[in-house]
Amino acid sequence: MNINLKRMLNDFSTIVSFTRTPNNGCTRFSYSYEDRQTREYLISQMKDLDLSIKVDAVGNIRAKYGMEIKKTSIMIGSHIDTVENGGKYDGLSGVLVALEIIRVLKEEQVAISHPIELIIFAEEEGSNFGVTMLGSKVLTGKYGTADLKRIKNGEGVSAYDIAKSFGLSVDHVEKDVLENEEVDAMIELHIEQGAVLETQNKSVGIVQAIAGMKTFKINLEGDSNHAGTTPMDLRQDPMAGAATIISHIRQVAKTQALPTTVATVGKIICQPNMPNVIPQRVEFFVDVRDVDSEGIDLIANALTEKVNAVTTEDNLQGKIELIGESNPVKLSSRITHAIEETASEYGYNYMRMNSGAVHDAAMMTDLTDVGMIFIPSMEGKSHSPDEYTRQEDIKSGGDLLLQVIEKLAVKTKETNQTSR
Ligand SMILES: [Zn+2]
Repeated sequence: MNINLKRMLNDFSTIVSFTRTPNNGCTRFSYSYEDRQTREYLISQMKDLDLSIKVDAVGNIRAKYGMEIKKTSIMIGSHIDTVENGGKYDGLSGVLVALEIIRVLKEEQVAISHPIELIIFAEEEGSNFGVTMLGSKVLTGKYGTADLKRIKNGEGVSAYDIAKSFGLSVDHVEKDVLENEEVDAMIELHIEQGAVLETQNKSVGIVQAIAGMKTFKINLEGDSNHAGTTPMDLRQDPMAGAATIISHIRQVAKTQALPTTVATVGKIICQPNMPNVIPQRVEFFVDVRDVDSEGIDLIANALTEKVNAVTTEDNLQGKIELIGESNPVKLSSRITHAIEETASEYGYNYMRMNSGAVHDAAMMTDLTDVGMIFIPSMEGKSHSPDEYTRQEDIKSGGDLLLQVIEKLAVKTKETNQTSR
């Protein structure tokens, strides 16, 4: 069986037209007018397929095909929200592939052994509240009502109030939490958002693990002074100290950490930030990620050591704060196996890989067996109007996922899987 690419591209062009920023990428925040238009379109498509549709307290859409089968479902899907001026393919690819798979199963009247559930997560990008994966966190019980009341947007309005005024039954949060006996497996297809597949000339990636991360805030305090009158040996310059630390971290990540470790300094704040003044204070952020927590710890230790060494040598005050962390996640070997077996049976040009970005699928791993399929992002671009995934790659990823579903949930091939 194969997906109907033409039909899917029609879904794509319809939904891509629902944007707050025409001609400048897709801007489709959860709970916005564009989100509502998208939901209405998708729900009408689901109704055409007679799916049983449930919208939960925060707006995750769960639509089941094969409702009458009293078994755990196989969940497929992703998210429909975007960042500001985001791309066409992030999230939406996984949702539309999943919808298309259900259409094909119905059209071909395939006898399935498990219901297939299309999941559309709300508020994955964190565009409203700066909190990513809100929908999947609520669905899996990691966040409750109190969190929704606590989390606020830039105008101070809570996620609770926004979801409520969007028309959602937000008081049902706890009731809507997914139970592990509801789902047999969850597979998310997503664009890679990096350039590995393109560089390796592969059309699909089978994700083995999702990287964890730690984010540190480093604060260096020196002594602000005149750039012309202060001799070099009398300076307490936090900018020079920051530069030493930053280049050291880059070197450690490149040469001493694991091959999978990445470390980034993407934000730096300098005070007073004047061309002719030695700064008083420099604050910067180190983002460290790895699928192996050993790599993260290695950078964390190197960072502590270097900050101590530099502050002593340059006569600065230093402070390191851990401001965020998530653990690396290994995906289910049962599912990654099934994907790989299918990919090699059908002759896909695939590779195993890891995900450097976190996805909704990662939130599901404590509840069910999770797998992910990546499709290439040209030039690795994502979260940008330039995001691009070739049609033939969407087709490959979509076909592969459909064939995996055949393997996991088609009656004639019933292999008597037990849940977890
Ligand atoms: Zn995404």
